[in-house]
Amino acid sequence: MRLRNVTGSREYIADSRFVIHDPEERKGKWSGVFNNNNPIRIEIGMGKGKFIMQLAKENPEINFIGIEKYSTVLLRAIQKMEAEELPNLVFIRMDAEDINEVFAKGEVDRIYLNFSDPWPKDRHAKRRLESREFLARYNECLKSDGIIEFKTDNRALFDFAVEEVPEAGWEIIKLSYDLHADEEMMMGNIMTEYEEKFSSMGNPICKYIIRR
Ligand code: SAM
Repeated sequence: MRLRNVTGSREYIADSRFVIHDPEERKGKWSGVFNNNNPIRIEIGMGKGKFIMQLAKENPEINFIGIEKYSTVLLRAIQKMEAEELPNLVFIRMDAEDINEVFAKGEVDRIYLNFSDPWPKDRHAKRRLESREFLARYNECLKSDGIIEFKTDNRALFDFAVEEVPEAGWEIIKLSYDLHADEEMMMGNIMTEYEEKFSSMGNPICKYIIRR
């Protein structure tokens, strides 16, 4: 996913009106970015943005913020927005580690995590976006009855994520080890880029929905 050599991606992003360049300044004031009081949902590690753009298109009464660490990937999402502008979607280029610098307590209504980087080495477990360390961060910015939805085809990462849930004081509301065969959980499912790729290869997709 990381395209290393897209010349000028940082400059391109710096000029984009679809990117919030001073997200720390918006902490507690995100409603002002959208000029309404609609709920705010975020996707962390959105990649090229296919999922969040479709979600934003289908849900104009909800505000969406796509978070991506790498400029070269974010650039692709910006180019899609230039082709089809959506008033209820903006992007931030940042590392999700700093999420509480950007959102106030309870400011986020829902968090989507899709096909997160697995960080397979044990010593890197804290970097996984589903680790107890990240769940503690989400605990701050997610409203008290907010939920997290996580999808992946990586069974080892999913097993780790499921084990982290009670350790962090959260609970699983719904879980599937084969999402595409689960009629109820598939209702309204939007495929991500990775989901399309890996499900077409025959990999089952795992999903959980959790709350505190
Ligand atoms: N969600 C997309 C999908 O399902 O098609 C992309 C999946 S890709 C494997 C993971 C994405 O998460 C990459 O674009 C990566 O740059 C981004 N990412 C990984 N760690 C991140 C972090 N700490 N903060 C923000 N983005 C991150």
